[in-house]
Amino acid sequence: MVAKHLPLANRCKSVASGGTYLVFDMGRLRSTLIRHYAHIRSSVLVAQRTFYYALLQVPSLGSDIARSASSRTTPERFQALYPGLIGWIRGTLAAHAAHARPVASAGFERLPHYFSENLLASAKFVAVDQVPTPPLQELGLSRFAAFLLNDPDGITYLDTYFVRRVRATDEALHFHELIHVVQWLLLGPEYFLGAYAAGLEGFGYRDSPLERMAYDAQSAFATGQVFDAEKLVAQKLSRQ
Ligand SMILES: [Zn+2]
Repeated sequence: MVAKHLPLANRCKSVASGGTYLVFDMGRLRSTLIRHYAHIRSSVLVAQRTFYYALLQVPSLGSDIARSASSRTTPERFQALYPGLIGWIRGTLAAHAAHARPVASAGFERLPHYFSENLLASAKFVAVDQVPTPPLQELGLSRFAAFLLNDPDGITYLDTYFVRRVRATDEALHFHELIHVVQWLLLGPEYFLGAYAAGLEGFGYRDSPLERMAYDAQSAFATGQVFDAEKLVAQKLSRQ
């Protein structure tokens, strides 16, 4: 997702006394996040079925996040809600399939310097008046409504992203959503959604790890710096 009016200084400033405990799921992403966010102190690891959850102690998060963390989504709850969410996503993509275009066909000049020919040929986008967002209440995910953007400019599901028609020629927006495409590809849908949900609950939208990665890369893109964006995401997700 990408914010329409990005508050660059939107950082959590206040300190939650005694630290805030967050749940991060996923074996693969667990160590990455712990190491990537070096300020986070890993306190407890809990193995549960095929997933691993790290309980992280974060000493300086905003009060909103502290409140959310106190009633966070449990791993069991997430697993129960996942089928409905991925079902809605697949149904939404199927409903728009006729209007999905390969990113390569949009003719952006800079994107090929950051993403492989394969990715730009396989990733698709759909230009719409309003990007489809999950019916959170219906899916039992209404708790996430407070974290997500109202009427976002873009949103990515699997290998396809939606952009608002008025922003359809904004190369930086496409770049941002392509970072999410790579995240989806590398993590797989269940890990991606689990990480995204945990990130929202733990850090809020803008500082959730997967969004932060996309925004940081987008900032570098904006400066004109050239780099292999797929490699960057892979490195960030696998950093040990
Ligand atoms: Zn985003």
